[in-house]
Amino acid sequence: MSQSSTPATQSTTPSSGNPTATFRVEVAKEQFVFSAAHFITFAGDICERIHGHNYGVKISVEGPLDENQYVVDFIALRDAVLKETQALDHHVILPRDHKEILVTQDETETTVRFRERRWVFPNEDAVIMPVVNTTAEEIARVIAENVRSRTREQFGESLSMIEVGVDENCGQWGVCRMPW
Ligand SMILES: [Zn+2]
Repeated sequence: MSQSSTPATQSTTPSSGNPTATFRVEVAKEQFVFSAAHFITFAGDICERIHGHNYGVKISVEGPLDENQYVVDFIALRDAVLKETQALDHHVILPRDHKEILVTQDETETTVRFRERRWVFPNEDAVIMPVVNTTAEEIARVIAENVRSRTREQFGESLSMIEVGVDENCGQWGVCRMPW
C-alpha cells in the first residue's frame, strides 16, 4: 500500500534525524461522510425535532515515525474510519445515556420517549450510541474510541494522540482529542 496513493497530508519535517520533531498523519477524505438523523436536548429541557445532517469526518493520529518513516499507514487509518462512517450512514443515531431521552428495544423495534413524545424505528435503522447527547463532539469521541480499538493491534502502543472531528453542517466541527 503506497502512501502516495492517497491525497492526505503528513508533516514534512525531516524525519528521525531530528529528535525534537513530532509527527502526525491526517486523513480527511471525500468518502468520510455519512447521512444520519438525530435530535438533541439543550438548555435543560428543549428537545429538537428529529432532523438529518450530512456529517463529515476527519481524523489525525500523532506518534513517532516507525521503521518506514511514517506514523501509521494512511490506508489502514482510512479503512478504519470508513467502517465507522458506513455503519452510521442512513441510520438514526440515538443516545444511550440521556436522562430523559429514553431508548428501549424489543426484538423488532426501537422506541424512544421524551416526556409525552414518542418515536418508533425498526431496529436495523437505529444506532444506539454510548453518549448522553448525540452532539458532533460526542459522535467524534465514539468514532475516535472505535477507530483506536479497531487499529490498536496493527498500529501498536507507541502512538500518543488520536483526534477526530465531526462536521455536522458545512464547517461546524465537533472535535475530540484523546490519548492513544
Ligand atoms: Zn442536528
